[in-house]
Amino acid sequence: MKALVLEKQHVLSLRDIDLPSQTGPDDVKIAIHTVGICGSDVHYYTHGAIGKFIVKAPMVLGHEASGTIVEVGAKVKSLKVGDRVCMEPGVANMNSRATKLGLYNLDGDLTFWATPPDHGCLTPHVIHPAAFTYKLPDHVSFAEGAMVEPFAVGMQAATRARIQPGDVALVTGCGPIGIMVALAALAGGCAKVLISDISAPKLKIAAQYAGIIPVNITQQNLKEEVEKHTSGWGVDLVFECSGSPRVYPTLFDHIRPGGAVVIVGLPVEPVAFDVAGAVVKEARIETVFRYANVYDRAIDLMGSGKVDLKPLITATFDFNDSIKAFERAAEGRPTDVKLQIRLDH
Ligand code: ZN
Repeated sequence: MKALVLEKQHVLSLRDIDLPSQTGPDDVKIAIHTVGICGSDVHYYTHGAIGKFIVKAPMVLGHEASGTIVEVGAKVKSLKVGDRVCMEPGVANMNSRATKLGLYNLDGDLTFWATPPDHGCLTPHVIHPAAFTYKLPDHVSFAEGAMVEPFAVGMQAATRARIQPGDVALVTGCGPIGIMVALAALAGGCAKVLISDISAPKLKIAAQYAGIIPVNITQQNLKEEVEKHTSGWGVDLVFECSGSPRVYPTLFDHIRPGGAVVIVGLPVEPVAFDVAGAVVKEARIETVFRYANVYDRAIDLMGSGKVDLKPLITATFDFNDSIKAFERAAEGRPTDVKLQIRLDH
């Protein structure tokens, strides 16, 4: 089947590759419609690895997808041919101890689209377990359906944060995930969310949403802004989404006593942080690894209109222009939030 294949670092090709074609009893076959390009896809393309995940063999890219069911396995009851769906790219071992605890994102046997050695979904058809395939409401477009995956990271962060109605939050880092986290935090009950970055164009995109307050740290003092918006008390929650070690020394300065820091961005190196600064506030620290059990709620928020991710879709490319799309994504234009690839059937 034709697919966008990362042959090795810096080398992409759109070519035929052998992929599973047999729909098992618990699987569905999906005609892929839209695939979003994620920072991780781009990182494998430009660096050939993310931490211990190294591209050692040709790998199909893409993990943020929506499509239409074209075949259902004999035991599948929840979905039918013609259903418009989006998919969780991670597939857990349903019998593992982590999965039974509800922590299937932490299952050691988890396979994940476009994480070596597992192929992704930038190909016309994929086979996927029905258990990780979710029906979209009629009025949620395929383009929005492909945004559920990155939004799920925001949903996981908001869930782990244990938001209380009226909380004030700070998101450090205004990339796509930072914005998703801010939107999930607002949907989860935050009254307002400050979001900090060094990029004015990125902040401008985030600021179009009511409730998001941009802070450009090249021009504004973050501590002063936090104090201004919380009457000097500090924010209830900080969501660290930049992955930058430079953020850590002052991370706990921004929270109120008893506040929480939720770590979403993954620094590539170990980072130092102010333990005493955390202790004197009895700060709670939460961490986020992908997501579990949030897709249904993410889809409901999008379906109800409470969360609108359409403004974050910057450009759409045809499947045949997939390589061009990745070259553009690798440029890292600050005005590009989400680039998507559309497959026509
Ligand atoms: Zn992603």
